[in-house]
Amino acid sequence: MAEGMMKGGRRSRAVLAALLFAAIASGCGLESGPAGPAPAKGDAAKHGRPGAQAEALKPGTPAYAESVRRAQAERAVAAKKWGLATTPLAAPPPPAVKPTITTRQGFEVEGGEDLPPIFTTVPVKDRVVFLTMDDGAEKDPELLRMMSELKIPYSAFLSDYVITDNYDYFKQMQDRGVTLNNHTINHRYMPGLSYDEQKREICDQQDKIEQRYGKRPTLFRPPYGNYNGDTLRAAKECGVKAAPIWASEAYPDHMEWREWDEDLHPGDIILTHFRGPNDWKGTMPDMIRNVMKTITDRGYAVAKLEDYV
Ligand SMILES: [Zn+2]
Repeated sequence: MAEGMMKGGRRSRAVLAALLFAAIASGCGLESGPAGPAPAKGDAAKHGRPGAQAEALKPGTPAYAESVRRAQAERAVAAKKWGLATTPLAAPPPPAVKPTITTRQGFEVEGGEDLPPIFTTVPVKDRVVFLTMDDGAEKDPELLRMMSELKIPYSAFLSDYVITDNYDYFKQMQDRGVTLNNHTINHRYMPGLSYDEQKREICDQQDKIEQRYGKRPTLFRPPYGNYNGDTLRAAKECGVKAAPIWASEAYPDHMEWREWDEDLHPGDIILTHFRGPNDWKGTMPDMIRNVMKTITDRGYAVAKLEDYV
């Protein structure tokens, strides 16, 4: 991993400058979402949520280019404030049509053609990656502020048993534009359970999230990334459309890679966890500083998973 960081560092400046220039010159930036340009006044702006103002701006117009420039200038200030090594890159606008996602080769289950796809990377050409946070044990208010101010989108995959002590934390997260997805009730090893048990773990969490947060998840991630045919059949049964797992995993002090090349690729899904100093070597902001250095140095921007899946 040390090697990976150095590798990234060597090409970082040029890539970053080129991408930033290209994004601004073409007037391409985020149209909406936490990383979008031109925060509107009021609560949505404070929380970095999609604002009505952003919708009025058409990509390609001078006003849009200006809003991207302004958003990026604000992000640079936030990056300094939060101690990031470099300013996160602006992601391109979300696709008009979501890409067709299929199960990654070698990850199929028997008879799984019509089941939610299991995948580690979204098929895109843009240099974007997706940040996903699992479980929900650590509820650090700094994380909420940091991500809103940096306008970095991420997605939560929640297990009920670790969030019961503070459901409201994730309500605040949702209010800031983060989608709350399903990571089961009790975080059990799915293949060790019967179909009915799996269905309870998955579908009860669908119900809970819908009841508590008003929106039924469409994305589900099996604990540990382990699943069998029953897992995906149960998930489909209660409304899950896709089952994203991950291509790499972020910690406060290192990355772990699924691929032999130990690198990021367009559309890669990055896993991390809601954890604190008791679980790993740092705070949530430490983890974000580390993963964002990796992402930015390698010339990638963070986009919102739900804009693509
Ligand atoms: Zn988990």
